Amino acid sequence: MSGRITRDLVDNLRRQADIVEIIGGYVALRKQGQNYTGLCPFHQEKTPSFVVSPAKQIYHCFGCGKGGDVLTFLMEQEGLGFQEAAEKLATRYGIALPSRELTAAQQRQEAQTKRLRQVNQWAMAVYQEALAGAAGTPGREYFRRRELTADTIRRFCLGYAPDRWDYLTLALRAKEVADEEMILLGLATRSQRGGLIDRFRGRVIFPILDDRENVTGFGGRIIDEGQPKYLNSQESPLFHKGSGLYGLHIAKGAIRQLDQVVIMEGYMDALAAHQYGIANAVASLGTALTAEQVRLLTRYTFRTLLCFDADGAGQAAALRGMEVLEQQDCRIGVVRIPSGKDPDEFLRQQGREAFQRQIDQASSLFEYKFQLNKEKFDQDTMAGKVAIIQATLPDLAKVRSPVARQGYVTLMAEALRFPEPAIRDELRRYFGGGKRSAGQESVRPTQAETAADAAQSIVIRGLLRDMPYLEKVEAAGGEGLFVHPAARGLYQTLLALWQAGYTSLTEGDMVALSDRREERDWLTGILLAAEVPGEAEKVLRDSLLTLRRQLMERQIKGMMERLAALEKAGDISAAREVMAALSSLNMAKQKLRLRV
Ligand SMILES: [Zn+2]
Repeated sequence: MSGRITRDLVDNLRRQADIVEIIGGYVALRKQGQNYTGLCPFHQEKTPSFVVSPAKQIYHCFGCGKGGDVLTFLMEQEGLGFQEAAEKLATRYGIALPSRELTAAQQRQEAQTKRLRQVNQWAMAVYQEALAGAAGTPGREYFRRRELTADTIRRFCLGYAPDRWDYLTLALRAKEVADEEMILLGLATRSQRGGLIDRFRGRVIFPILDDRENVTGFGGRIIDEGQPKYLNSQESPLFHKGSGLYGLHIAKGAIRQLDQVVIMEGYMDALAAHQYGIANAVASLGTALTAEQVRLLTRYTFRTLLCFDADGAGQAAALRGMEVLEQQDCRIGVVRIPSGKDPDEFLRQQGREAFQRQIDQASSLFEYKFQLNKEKFDQDTMAGKVAIIQATLPDLAKVRSPVARQGYVTLMAEALRFPEPAIRDELRRYFGGGKRSAGQESVRPTQAETAADAAQSIVIRGLLRDMPYLEKVEAAGGEGLFVHPAARGLYQTLLALWQAGYTSLTEGDMVALSDRREERDWLTGILLAAEVPGEAEKVLRDSLLTLRRQLMERQIKGMMERLAALEKAGDISAAREVMAALSSLNMAKQKLRLRV
């Protein structure tokens, strides 16, 4: 729970806000029993799996797994931060927010940011007017050659910086903008003689807006031959390289609706995409994707399609971007543009349908990397084939679904004309070599794992109904009982609250207190899953017993492993201690069995 808004105020907001009313403003909801259902706004579906509970003031989608309370809904739906979502609710329900206590320095900073945004806004208008006016002929010519329509130019506020030393500088001085402000924003530089020189000259201008439509900076492309071809704003209080995505302010609605984003490289690619109706396209602005950009995107979707240039630099940037996307659990597809064209060229020559076909045929991350490996080695020799398989194994091992993995083995075998069983052997050896990847652990939940999941959710639900029950859970093993990361995280939060003196908590409180998305999604899921009226005492007791038995089994297994290691090392006295502990643990487990 971050920001300057206190817990009390958030509680107050959540009490006053009606989640059905708020969500009903975005989603058509139908009453069904105690709850409301509708089509999920976070993924595309034809039958409703999105459930809103007015009693608990929470929502959960049983299709895509997203869940939360009224604040997280606004954050996700509108792409707002916590503070902004709270402010929006407060305004709507007429709740006074405490006046923010800013230090003098913070106040100066806020005023400066506001002023600089205004200056950038003026600069954008100057460039737009220049493009439309007498001085704008070269710019208009350029956009005509690139086949951009007037509508695209208007929607993206494109402009032109005439090839003069002081075109913008003079226009901004007329608005009483100080030289220092222009320099700070990177709109002008100081000349050797002490005057001011426009930074962008003889270039078409692409204003860069953030997702709240503030102008943060500009990109300029030279019209005639000259270097550099592209010039971007320098770092400034408003512009940070690698933090925004070009076009996001226009694409965000479509990204959310389609639950997918197409990430391209350059301005012209993104502009062409939008002009041809690919409304969920953004551009990363030349660099490889940064973690900050990906975090920004994941406010809107986790499904990403990379569509970079086919050249070496584009491929390298794509590969680096994939690593960042993978780290943040995004689903990645790669759109390949045939015959070495860039996406802008391809769209103009082949049109939207051809491009859409490339999107539909996007290869998975695995297929893409396999393709690259194939290009790296000679697939006509046996040594080359083996090298390709070896290089691809780590990626193959990362594929979580066994069905998909089997499919890829077949694909590799066919592509390389190599016996399938031999590839499977290689894969098995790879796993056996201890290079287990993290993803490999959770291949498929076994029957026992599913039962454990159920037991964990029953115990967490029990704790929310009756917090003092926590003492029993602590005695049975506490945190160690919970294997599911979300269940464990929630238990830690509950324990901390209990130790801080809380003795009761509503389900809505708990949802609001879970800062981590996975915990919130899991929690809303178990709270709205089967409506278990009062969940019988016995079910709860049995579940706790199940968890305790499983914890003991894990402990016994760990001790056996330690024992084996100690015996191997010849450390007899330590081995004896472990053996003693093991036998008392075994006895405790026997007793537990009698009680079930
Ligand atoms: Zn959903």
